[in-house]
Amino acid sequence: ILSLKQIQKSFGDHQVLRDISLDINKGEIATIIGPSGGGKSTTLRCINLLEEPTAGEVIFHGQNVLDPSYNRNIYRAKVGMVFQQFDLFENKNVLANCMVGQELVLKRSKEEAREVALKNLTKVGMEEYINARPNQLSGGQQQRVAIARAICMDPEILLFDEPTSALDPEMVGEVLSVMQNLATTGLTMIIVTHEMAFARDISDQIFFISGGIIAEQGNPDQLFNHPQNELTEKFLSNFQ
Ligand code: ATP
Ligand code: MG
Repeated sequence: ILSLKQIQKSFGDHQVLRDISLDINKGEIATIIGPSGGGKSTTLRCINLLEEPTAGEVIFHGQNVLDPSYNRNIYRAKVGMVFQQFDLFENKNVLANCMVGQELVLKRSKEEAREVALKNLTKVGMEEYINARPNQLSGGQQQRVAIARAICMDPEILLFDEPTSALDPEMVGEVLSVMQNLATTGLTMIIVTHEMAFARDISDQIFFISGGIIAEQGNPDQLFNHPQNELTEKFLSNFQ
C-alpha cells in the first residue's frame, strides 16, 4: 500500500534522513523505534507530506505522491495522523471535533457525520462524553477522542507519533488497548513508540531508525530476540 524509496530530508545543511526505504502492506502494523533525534518523526512527516522530502519517492498504490501531477488532496485525506499532544480543537466539544473534518473534507452531511462520529466514539469508549470540551477530559480520554476523530475520516493508513508519551502512566494502557483493537480491524498503522512491550505485541514489522537510516528491520522476534546490529541491541537493553 505504501513504499518509501530512498527518502532523504535535510533542514538547511543538516541532513536528518539519509536513506529511508520501507514497504508497508495493507493491513500491516509497523512500528518505528529508535533513539531521540534519529529521524522517526521526520519519517512520519515525510509520509503524510507535512514535510517535503529532499529526495526519494513516496509510493502509494503504485503512484509517486511527490510527482507534481499527483493530486495530494486525495492522498492527504487517506493518510491520518495522531499526535503526541492530541491536538484537539479546544473550542469544540468532543462530537464536533469528530464531525468537522468529515463535513469539510469528505463533504458528508451533518447527519452522516454525526452518525459516524458516534459510532467511532463508542469504539474508543468515549460516547458518554460527546458534549465535553477537551479541557474537561484527562489526557488518555483526549487521545482516545483524537483517535476517534482520525478514524472518522476513513483513512487507509493511520500514523501515530508517540501517542502515549504525553500521558500520565496510568492512562497509557487505555490508549494502547484502543490501538490494539484498531489493529484487528484491518487498518494499516505506522506507529512511532517508546513502548517496547506494546511494539513487540502489536507489530508485523519493526523498523529501528537511528542516524537517519533504517539501521535494522524485522519482525518482533528478529528485532527483540536476535538483533543483528549492535546499535539495536544497545538501544533495546535500555528498556529491559
Ligand atoms: P524524538 O524521539 O526525540 O521524537 P525523532 O527520532 O522523532 O526524535 P526527529 O524529530 O525526526 O527525531 O528529528 C531528527 C532531527 O531533525 C533532530 O536533530 C531535529 O533537531 C531535526 N529537525 C526536525 N525537524 C526539524 C525542523 N523543522 N527544522 C530543523 N531541524 C529539524
Ligand atoms: Mg519524534
